[in-house]
Amino acid sequence: EMKAEIIAVGTELLLGQIVNTNGPFVAKGLADLGIDVYFEETVGDNDERLRQTVEFAAARSDLIILIGGLGPTKDDLTKQTVAQYLKKPLVEDAAAMSKIRRYYRETKKQMTENNRLQALYIKDSLPLKNTTGFAVGNFYQNPQGADFLLLPGPPSELKPMFEHVAEPLLSKTYFKDHHLFSRVLRFFGIGESLLVTKIADLIDNQTNPTIAPYAKTSEVTLRLTASSQNAAEAEKLLDGMETIIRKRAGKYLYGYGDDNSLVNVVVKLLEKKNLNLAAAESLTAGAFQAVLAEVPGVSNVFSGGVVTYSNEAKELLLDIPNRVLEEKGAVSGETAKLMATSIRNKLKTDIGIAFTGVAGPGELEGNPVGTVWIGIAYKDQPVEARVFHFSNARPFIRERSVLTGLDWLRC
Ligand code: ATP
Ligand code: MG
Repeated sequence: EMKAEIIAVGTELLLGQIVNTNGPFVAKGLADLGIDVYFEETVGDNDERLRQTVEFAAARSDLIILIGGLGPTKDDLTKQTVAQYLKKPLVEDAAAMSKIRRYYRETKKQMTENNRLQALYIKDSLPLKNTTGFAVGNFYQNPQGADFLLLPGPPSELKPMFEHVAEPLLSKTYFKDHHLFSRVLRFFGIGESLLVTKIADLIDNQTNPTIAPYAKTSEVTLRLTASSQNAAEAEKLLDGMETIIRKRAGKYLYGYGDDNSLVNVVVKLLEKKNLNLAAAESLTAGAFQAVLAEVPGVSNVFSGGVVTYSNEAKELLLDIPNRVLEEKGAVSGETAKLMATSIRNKLKTDIGIAFTGVAGPGELEGNPVGTVWIGIAYKDQPVEARVFHFSNARPFIRERSVLTGLDWLRC
């Protein structure tokens, strides 16, 4: 099993002046390839500490990825330090050098000796072409120990080099004629820890396919990655694993794919069923409609809606009788049902959905923080309302309400 380690190089990272976005970008790419990252650290632009870090990493990892410090200035030490560690000289990449020369000729700028540094690479390594900058990357396959991948710091250079040069190279080097096939399963209504507990044995014994859980604000995904010589065999491996997972947590599984979030699934479903939707929002104050509007082409299924935060707004815009608001309360099943029915009737849609609840910090009408009623009026069926009790802080309660509404619409 390949153990990879990522080293981000740069004093400005340690000072908190810039945020390390390259590390996560590369880590995700490696995970997609099926390469496990065991360690990731940051070190400043200091040759002694960089040397120590490289030595330490080389003793415990199979692939070391260094990010940054490939530039022309004095604080750019990465290539020099790795070359010294490998006891290799730096040699010039003729193509990169002529690109640099041409740039200085064409812009009539003064080229200095250190600009040449960007065209240097470690002898016996593969120089990696930089399509958006000058510094070449390096990939050194070490017959005696850890392999090294050197990437430039500016994200505009690192991203294309990683995606178009390094990723195919790593795949070819480490997986030979085997290819990796991924499938992302998306879950809602189950927390990451519970899901992971339900499939703990599968995760512990994973070989092919591998299983990588990922949680993002109330949604959880599992990425299954199969390694195989052909797609059909990979599909079979993925199907087999998915079937086992479905037996344990199938009712929370709502879709597939990296970008296929709950709202996308709901919009597609409404499109397929030729249904349109209107919304009346109290505690979510438009958040539900804003999420819908992020989906291109949502106008086919979404007519519009209102934000009725106060009781007056509920009365004026949705004709909710004051008597109901006084006697049952704004946070009640009755109000949620009336809101959903009213917006559906006003906008003449198939579905009306309504949200009313207590986002906090204080309780409301005797309802504790996190009490949320969602109402759905669907065609001429009896209008329905459900109550939910969400814990956590205000932003989470509002977001959770939106996602729960979407989840209900999915069913
Ligand atoms: P250059 O040729 O521009 O000097 P380099 O390969 O030497 O590139 P660095 O000098 O380490 O890279 O960083 C250049 C710039 O790239 C930094 O000022 C910063 O804006 C950005 N950068 C470097 N490392 C990271 C990182 N890990 N995450 C995000 N941005 C980074
Ligand atoms: Mg630099």
